[in-house]
Amino acid sequence: MISTKVTQAEQERKEILKKYRALLRSCRHKLHKSDKKLIRQAFELALEAHKDMRRKSGEPYIFHPVAVAQIVAEEIGLGTTSIVCALLHDVVEDTEYTLEDITDEFGNTVADITDGLTKISSVFDVTGSIQAENFRKILVTLAKDVRVILIKLADRLHNMRTMDVMPRHKQLKIASETIYLYAPLAHRFGLYEIKSELEDLTMKYTEPKTYKAIAKSLQETKRERTRYINEFIGPIKEVLRKQGFHFDIFGRPKSISSIWNKIKKKGISFDEVYDKFAIRIIIDSPLDDEKANCWKVYSMVTDFYTPNPDRLRDWISTSKINGYEALHCTVMGPKGRWVEVQIRTRRMNEVAERGYAAHWRYKDDSPSDDSALEQWLQKIRDLLENPDSNTFDFIDDFKLNLFYDEIYVFTPKGDLKVLPKNSTALDLAFEIHTDIGLKCLGAKVNHKIAPASQRLNNGDQVEILTSRKQQPNQQWLDQVVTAKARSKIKQALKNQRKKIAQEGKKILNNKFKQLKISFNSANLNQLLEYYQVKTNADLYYNISTGNLDVNDLDKFKKTGDKLNIATTGKPETHDSAIEQEIKKTLLKNSNLLVFGENSNSIDYNLAPCCQPIPGDDAFGFINKVNELEVHKANCPKAIKIISKYGNKIVRTKWTKEHKIAFLTGLRITGLDDVGIMHNITNVIYGELKINIQSITIESKEGVFEGSIILYVDDTAHLEELIKRLKAVNGIKSINRLEEGQMNKLLR
Ligand code: MN
Repeated sequence: MISTKVTQAEQERKEILKKYRALLRSCRHKLHKSDKKLIRQAFELALEAHKDMRRKSGEPYIFHPVAVAQIVAEEIGLGTTSIVCALLHDVVEDTEYTLEDITDEFGNTVADITDGLTKISSVFDVTGSIQAENFRKILVTLAKDVRVILIKLADRLHNMRTMDVMPRHKQLKIASETIYLYAPLAHRFGLYEIKSELEDLTMKYTEPKTYKAIAKSLQETKRERTRYINEFIGPIKEVLRKQGFHFDIFGRPKSISSIWNKIKKKGISFDEVYDKFAIRIIIDSPLDDEKANCWKVYSMVTDFYTPNPDRLRDWISTSKINGYEALHCTVMGPKGRWVEVQIRTRRMNEVAERGYAAHWRYKDDSPSDDSALEQWLQKIRDLLENPDSNTFDFIDDFKLNLFYDEIYVFTPKGDLKVLPKNSTALDLAFEIHTDIGLKCLGAKVNHKIAPASQRLNNGDQVEILTSRKQQPNQQWLDQVVTAKARSKIKQALKNQRKKIAQEGKKILNNKFKQLKISFNSANLNQLLEYYQVKTNADLYYNISTGNLDVNDLDKFKKTGDKLNIATTGKPETHDSAIEQEIKKTLLKNSNLLVFGENSNSIDYNLAPCCQPIPGDDAFGFINKVNELEVHKANCPKAIKIISKYGNKIVRTKWTKEHKIAFLTGLRITGLDDVGIMHNITNVIYGELKINIQSITIESKEGVFEGSIILYVDDTAHLEELIKRLKAVNGIKSINRLEEGQMNKLLR
């Protein structure tokens, strides 16, 4: 017995050392002796600290920090300090070692970063939900030292890669956080590879069936694709060689999640997605000639294939905020297919793959401050300064700024300003200066007068018009997309509200005097209770705006200078429209069973946002009014819910028997033929006896497109219907409607 144990321990030791050596080999730059010593020291401390711990998979825990360190070194390309921190990232949180121990052995920088990493992990893991205040903490840490977030991304990536052994509800929770926060962060830092992998891994867990189906289709069509790519790049290769370029050229498959997004967005089938890959050309070029050389390559490509003038992106003249540089164009390839071509130099490629890390990798392992990234971080610091941002709104505002495409506009003097796509003149006004934003009346866009709400386009020249009399109003919030504008407008509205409330307080005070009751908290509290408002300020505000009538007070009973509302009786209350809706849904579905954590049957309602049907991959969420809300696992709203209220998520299972039908929708396209409508309805009504709620068909030039809303029993029922419809002559494609499309039709 003992001997086998020894052998197993021996084997694990060997395995650990093997992984450690692989880590050292993956360091992208030459390690000095002192670097090696530091890494060794961190490894030994981590090994000792985690020695009695195992991962859920049964492996020694140390596998995890070593793997994270390897991602940090190899895939993000960071230096020694970051590798050391990655090795130590779970030590303080999970073992008996303290931050002081780390400081003593590795100094302040390593200790600060490790501390930041510990703080971040506690944001999600203890309560299972993102708390606005904790979210702020992440950003504070991030703004201090970017390496914290980069290592955290590596940590998350490794956890996502090794999530198979986790229970399903944990997988869903971790995946949701990832798509909500970490993938956008990776994007923002220009880590495209990591971002794509995080998105794909998320999909693997939230939509396993679709994920597998697309992966399989990709595999099956690989040969055909390779043949096409070779045909496409053949002539380009030849001419590049003739011109003396050193280069790599290859076709790169797009990620599964991006293909899936396209299918959903355009309502097409896998076969109809043509750009499942992009052609990438990477050239060697001296720094000074980079731009000229890339355009030279562009010119050679378009000698062979006609470019689409609407699809040319020059991110060399002005790089993206996250540092991305390249030339993208779409050209007409063989067989009349559009093909995307990405042209970049070896250096640009490095930046594209490893993000900003590539910039400072050689610079003593610390971020440089002249970068556009630094500007972005400055924006976050600005946001953080807003004392009122301790809310979920803040998270949403921040998210808005994480994941945007940029547009470039010019001031009258010709200064370039970068804004998120869909920004308005009002956004630009706030971008220039808060005071200009608050007084913004409108703008001149390309010398023409335009409202402040006008959306700006790339290349617009914009002059902001202001008025001293102008004041922000509630509608402004719908007219801006930048976090800065939003938070400044909110702040201004809050100040306005304060002033209005002061008026209301005066009015109430006078009324109290008139009725000879004291203006004290006992009396005020009774009013709060009676009108169901939370704070005195809210009470004053509503009085000032006329929402509440102070003359109501006349009817209340009094005892001396005291109000005595309790004896007056409650005001009538009505359920809100939403509450009624929920009750109706609950009633309608009360004969259905969903199993929660403890297998008790309980009432639930189907989330109207995604309309799940039995058989769909789904989960339940206990909402604010303590009801179980069932969402599809891929519902975009659900993702937000899970990441905020992870602890309220319950596993749900569809029961086998259910007697009522579920509403769902299909989008059908095909050739407009006499009799096709008859054939479709015949399948639906006649063969399967399915009830249709509505059909809309549009027909144009011999092609029809239609949406059918109908009731089915479950996914199997739906699949049977789709199968039979596909067999109808003339039908080209059938897809299930996505939530947004369906809600539009139901409205
Ligand atoms: Mn970890």
